[in-house]
Amino acid sequence: MPADWDSEADRDVKADWDTEADVVVVGFGAAGACAALEAAAAGCSVLVLDRFTGGGATALSGGVVYAGGGTPQQRAAGVSDSAEAMFGYLRTEAGDVVPDWTLREFCDGSVAMLAWLERHGVPFEGSLCPDKTSYPTNRHYLYYSGSELSARAAAPPAPRGHRARGRGASGGLLFARLAAAARASGVEVAGQTRAERLFTDDGRVTGVACRSLRGAPWWARAAHRALHRAASKPFLYAPKLGRLGHRPADWLERRYGRPLRVGARRGVVLAAGGFGANRPMLRTHVPSARGGLPLATPGDDGSGIRLGAGAGGATALLDRASVWRFLSPPPALLHGVLVDAEGKRVCDESRYGAAIGDEVVRRGGRAWLLVDRATLALARRQVRRTTLWFQRPQAWYLLTRGRVSADTVAGVAAKAGVDPDGLAATLSAYNAAAYNAASGNVGVPAGAPDPAGKPADLIRAQDQPPYSLIDISIRRRPLYPAPVLTLGGLVTDPGTGQVVRADGTAVPGLYAAGRSAVGLCSRSYVSGLSIADCVFSGRRAGRSAAQ
Ligand SMILES: Cc1cc2nc3c(=O)[nH]c(=O)nc-3n(C[C@H](O)[C@H](O)[C@H](O)COP(=O)(O)OP(=O)(O)OC[C@H]3O[C@@H](n4cnc5c(N)ncnc54)[C@H](O)[C@@H]3O)c2cc1C
Repeated sequence: MPADWDSEADRDVKADWDTEADVVVVGFGAAGACAALEAAAAGCSVLVLDRFTGGGATALSGGVVYAGGGTPQQRAAGVSDSAEAMFGYLRTEAGDVVPDWTLREFCDGSVAMLAWLERHGVPFEGSLCPDKTSYPTNRHYLYYSGSELSARAAAPPAPRGHRARGRGASGGLLFARLAAAARASGVEVAGQTRAERLFTDDGRVTGVACRSLRGAPWWARAAHRALHRAASKPFLYAPKLGRLGHRPADWLERRYGRPLRVGARRGVVLAAGGFGANRPMLRTHVPSARGGLPLATPGDDGSGIRLGAGAGGATALLDRASVWRFLSPPPALLHGVLVDAEGKRVCDESRYGAAIGDEVVRRGGRAWLLVDRATLALARRQVRRTTLWFQRPQAWYLLTRGRVSADTVAGVAAKAGVDPDGLAATLSAYNAAAYNAASGNVGVPAGAPDPAGKPADLIRAQDQPPYSLIDISIRRRPLYPAPVLTLGGLVTDPGTGQVVRADGTAVPGLYAAGRSAVGLCSRSYVSGLSIADCVFSGRRAGRSAAQ
């Protein structure tokens, strides 16, 4: 065993492996677990390597999976949906990021994908949330998790956010069930083992060079585990604190980690997450996300993407990041009017938070929500019923600290620094649509529909003073952060998940999945689409690598 990988001049070596498996998976989050499950089901020996103890962003997530086409949960809730309608909507979000036939395969297979997750222990439930929200409370597990209602011209809308049934943020339960299923099917998991390089032999990826705490003193392993666990959540909400807390874990890896050569007889799957924790990569590729809060764990350091690129793989859409600006809960805030610094309407306020984030970024990161007295009062009454604990600071911010108010529209515009004439014109067009909706004329061409196309049942006139402008600009704000999720990664063959080079040829023996790769959500994220893509692309990579 070499003392250090740095002493290895050439990675094209026929290595004497310390350990070997048919399929080696780098990263044990949703994508890695699904890849491992499929490779094991195909009869392969599977070894999963994880820098920490597994789970990654998946285990901290909301556990929402985007699925439709008539799932049992949709049917139980009395919702009608079809794969065609799902395709029609997702095409508006995904654009040409994947070929039509891949998106169709995803939509046609969605019911079966959810059943596959259930067979591996992940529970879902058809309890439909009555409100448009960023995340339902523990009473509801099916909801409109995207902008389906706003895109009804493109496809019949249906709620497709299937939240794994578990209290609080359900991602922990979703991952725990997948991890247990993987272990039960014979998958070996090597934790505290960091992939640092890929071995190639004549261009084919044959193995992974790792640094592992296997064999380190017990106390070093225990401290590494504990430090990572303690720092992961703070990393999400206060990255500086999280980074500080994580530093000793990095040191333990450097001090006690030993090189480990892992051979892969059939293939290596890279499923090591995105690059939200890699500040230089963020600065280079997504400068527009400045002021946002990376939605990432310390494992999202871009190492999966860099390992693939080092073996010749092409990358794409690294400049795409999803920046979230949720206005609801409380849902009454969706009755408000979202404007930019010129007082112009930004977009339909009921669109998904990432779509609103995109529009705000496009306007230089500044936007305000105008609400009147009645809307504010209704929103206040809704907070208790419509929020989970982690949504309350945001609701509190929106309804108190984040807002200025005045008795007139011109007065509130002056206080916020918004153009008063622009705001007055926007509000008058919006209120005209609201009066029209109230008189039952909505949909009648001669009437005045909402200029931004907001669904009629969410339009209420904002005409009762005092008026408030709530600042939803993208800035560093602990109570109302703007989460940023990286969406780009390695380019893969849409049929196999194999990593491809810039010239379109495949890198033999190398596959990628989840946020290490370009996937269904890489152009535009809606809640549940990242984990759904992890399941879809992870399973595809695992199956292909096993062949
Ligand atoms: C708070 C939060 C809420 C979210 N809610 C949702 C939601 O409800 N629905 C949804 O679709 N998406 C959601 N997302 C996004 C989603 O969770 C992630 O995009 C997705 O889980 C990524 O899965 P993955 O398998 O690609 O990576 P991860 O789950 O991050 O797993 C990657 C693993 O790779 C390991 N690793 C990294 N580098 C190495 C290395 N060099 N060697 C070995 N191991 C390595 C890491 O330790 C980690 O365990 C949320 C994200 C967050 C943070």
